[in-house]
Amino acid sequence: MVTRFAPSPTGRLHVGHGWSALMAQEMARAAGGAFRLRIEDIDGTRSRPAHVTGILEDLRWLGVDWDGEIMFQSQRLAHYQAALDRLRRMGLLYPCFCTRADIAASATAPHGPEGAVYPGTCRMLDQATRQRRIAAGEPHAWRLDMARAVARTGPLKWVALPFPYSPAPPVPVTADPLAAGDVVLARKDAPASYHLSCTLDDAAMGVTHVLRGSDLFAATHVHRLLQALLDLSSPAYVHHPLLVGPDGRRLAKRDGSIALADLRAEGVDPARLADELRQGRFPVGISLASA
Ligand code: GLU
Repeated sequence: MVTRFAPSPTGRLHVGHGWSALMAQEMARAAGGAFRLRIEDIDGTRSRPAHVTGILEDLRWLGVDWDGEIMFQSQRLAHYQAALDRLRRMGLLYPCFCTRADIAASATAPHGPEGAVYPGTCRMLDQATRQRRIAAGEPHAWRLDMARAVARTGPLKWVALPFPYSPAPPVPVTADPLAAGDVVLARKDAPASYHLSCTLDDAAMGVTHVLRGSDLFAATHVHRLLQALLDLSSPAYVHHPLLVGPDGRRLAKRDGSIALADLRAEGVDPARLADELRQGRFPVGISLASA
């Protein structure tokens, strides 16, 4: 078994991240497997080197220790590029020149599990227009033509395992990537989107079991499709509930009050905190969101 924790360095870690990392570590260790760490640091607008240092400090403080080298996405750009080229050659990508405002303004934008689904405006552009706009240096993302991609792979399933983790019985889930629409695979401001980099890296790290928050359940459908298109193995997935604060809102990196760094500054004993988190007991005011 190989599990992983894959934080984005857009802020310091909160208690929920620490809990998630500890669970992924425990899962692997209990099975005699490996627990890996990946830093998802290619979001040029939001990720900061200072947060990388902070995150490593937070994890070490809590007693999370990973096997092998840390994988940094910023060092894997050539792999993302190769995958994009391959999908482009398969005729599955198209350049998208729309701004967020264009998409929001589109009266036809339907809503999917992750908000507005791209209405497909740029999918309709002809080849000459695409080439002209790219040649003119117009900023563009690359989107996956989801209907074509699904037609190519046919029906797919992915394996869901229960939370708390137990090895059996696996539940086959029918993948529904169409609900996500034409997702972005290369962004205007980043060489690869989360969907593409995460899917490639989980495969490159040999991850067999992905444990992550239920906010990424919808993403798993897209990841399964990318695995099929790129001939990658498909890990099993465990989605854990998210933690909420006293106000019932999801913990977020912006809520400084529950950052691991703050608990550390308050003199909290990390070994004790880690023990409690392992048992699913959280600091006062923090609880599991009801499903
Ligand atoms: N980097 C993502 C995040 O911090 C998590 C990615 C994953 O676990 O698949 O939300």
